[in-house]
Amino acid sequence: MPVFLPSAAGGPGGFLRRPKLPGPPAASPPKAAAPPRGTTVTTTTKPVSTAAGGTQPAPAASASPRVRTPTREQREAALARSKGPDGVERCTHCDTPLERQAGKPNSAEIDHRKPFVKGGQTTDSNLDAACRTCNRSKGPKELGAEWTPPNKR
Ligand SMILES: [Zn+2]
Repeated sequence: MPVFLPSAAGGPGGFLRRPKLPGPPAASPPKAAAPPRGTTVTTTTKPVSTAAGGTQPAPAASASPRVRTPTREQREAALARSKGPDGVERCTHCDTPLERQAGKPNSAEIDHRKPFVKGGQTTDSNLDAACRTCNRSKGPKELGAEWTPPNKR
C-alpha cells in the first residue's frame, strides 16, 4: 500500500492545527456575547454567595434583627456589674445575692431595663442582673417609670 505514504504527511499536519482551534474561538465569542446579556450578570453572584457562607452573620448584624436573649458575654458582663465590693453577684433591684442555679427565687436572670417588648435593646447599657423574683415582678414594666425596685422604695 504505497498510496498511504503521501497521505501520512498530511496526518501530522492535521494534529498541529487542532491545538490552535480551541484558543481563538474561546477568547472572542464570550466577550462579544457578554454586553447584550448584561441582565444575566446576577448568575455570576451565585457561586460567590455559596463560597462566602461565613458572611451571613455580617448582613444579619447590619440589619439589626432584634434579639431578646442576651449573649453569654452580655450576661456575664451584667453579672459582673452587679458585683459589690465583696465580689458577690447581687440583684440590681433588691441586692439579694444571686444564685447561678435556675429555678430558685434568687436565680440570676438578665433584665431589660427598658422592656424588650417596648423597644428596649439587648445591649449592655440596657441589661441588668436581677433575681428571678424581681424580674417576674417587674415584667414588661419600665424601670423607674412603671416599676420601682425594692431597694429604691
Ligand atoms: Zn431582686
